[in-house]
Amino acid sequence: MSHKHSMIVLYLIALGMIAGLAAGWYFGEDILVVKWLGVLFLNALKMTIIPLILAAVISGVASLGDVRKLGRPGGLTMLYYLSTTILAIIIGLFLVNLIEPGVGVEMTAEAKAAGASLAQEKGGSTFVDIIMSLISPNLVQSAAELQLLPLVVFAVIFGAAVTTVGDSGAAVIRFFEGLNEAMMKLVGWIMYFAPVGVFALVASSLGEAGGGDAFMATVTGIGKYVSTVLIALAVHSVLLFVIMIFLSRRGPSFLTDMARALMTAFGTASSSATLPITMECAKEHGLSDRSVRFVLPLGSTVNMNGTALYEAIAAMFIAQMYGIDLGMGEQILIVITATLAAIGAAGIPQAGTVTMLIVLAAVGLPAEGIGVLLSVDWFLDRFRTTVNVWGDAVGAAVMNKYMMADEEKAMVEVFKDKIEEAEG
Ligand code: ASP
Repeated sequence: MSHKHSMIVLYLIALGMIAGLAAGWYFGEDILVVKWLGVLFLNALKMTIIPLILAAVISGVASLGDVRKLGRPGGLTMLYYLSTTILAIIIGLFLVNLIEPGVGVEMTAEAKAAGASLAQEKGGSTFVDIIMSLISPNLVQSAAELQLLPLVVFAVIFGAAVTTVGDSGAAVIRFFEGLNEAMMKLVGWIMYFAPVGVFALVASSLGEAGGGDAFMATVTGIGKYVSTVLIALAVHSVLLFVIMIFLSRRGPSFLTDMARALMTAFGTASSSATLPITMECAKEHGLSDRSVRFVLPLGSTVNMNGTALYEAIAAMFIAQMYGIDLGMGEQILIVITATLAAIGAAGIPQAGTVTMLIVLAAVGLPAEGIGVLLSVDWFLDRFRTTVNVWGDAVGAAVMNKYMMADEEKAMVEVFKDKIEEAEG
């Protein structure tokens, strides 16, 4: 997409989002007549994810040239993502301890029942389950269920293996290169539909909540909790911006260039569905192929800053509501479990709400407490998904700088050898 087109689409998506909020607010359930347009957009994005992610990650990893070169960028990417996740949780814990949004909140019987039934239906997963989910026994089934984590793991291993088999491997890499390019083209076309898609998705989600008045009534009930999450997300986003400026040495235009992806994340509440757009925006901004094809897909599956921050706040909120005092040790346990729960959460709407049950179980909080938060969860999900995508994008920009520096070093080495050879 040319720069001019990108800017026009950006303004139109922003307009779509604002118009969607206004329409959902005023028309309430009546606006659901446009819901199909949002679903159509979402489906178009989902349609591209599996071929795109496989082609991108395989060709991205293979472009490193040698399996032994995977360790450093892979390890550093994971280390970077882990650090920002922990930073997000610390910000969340600091603010929730300061504001204490759970103190004095009463739980209704209805909320208790909703929480208990969610815990019964979805509870029971453990850390072992998260580790087990890395390897899929059936890639086709994982693809059908849009479980991207095992697919990314497979693609990384496959991409590494394919570099070791010589000529026949080169043909496979070329195939995936071509597939990746064609899929990115397709994503560029789908992006033209984003303004209408985002409008319909935002309008219908507010419509489903019963419109503006019904929504305000729900939010004000636990307004302090909602504000704590939103303030923490805002603080973390600003910190990410600072990290982007200093560590990746990119200007504010990086934020403007990623804005289409961020608004799509807000509209879809799914970082997986947004991934194709995130990749397209990062590519247009000028990040290297390796960052776009390797760091971003990895980030979108394991790095969820917004989700981790939200899980820590929600767990503490539940503790405050029940009057349970959680000390330093338990809060450290929240840092560890929320990190793992965020890694384990799929990039789909409200996945974090379910993996939060692991955090609650680890510190011995009643799972039914989650019931109080469910009414506003769809709304906060959109904000945390936006921060998840922003976190991935900043990670890709930072790793881009590091990988370029590494590549330059490698080039110098090559030329040094050549010069020495010539001199010798
Ligand atoms: N909806 C989030 C995402 O897709 C995950 C979550 O926090 O529920 O990134």
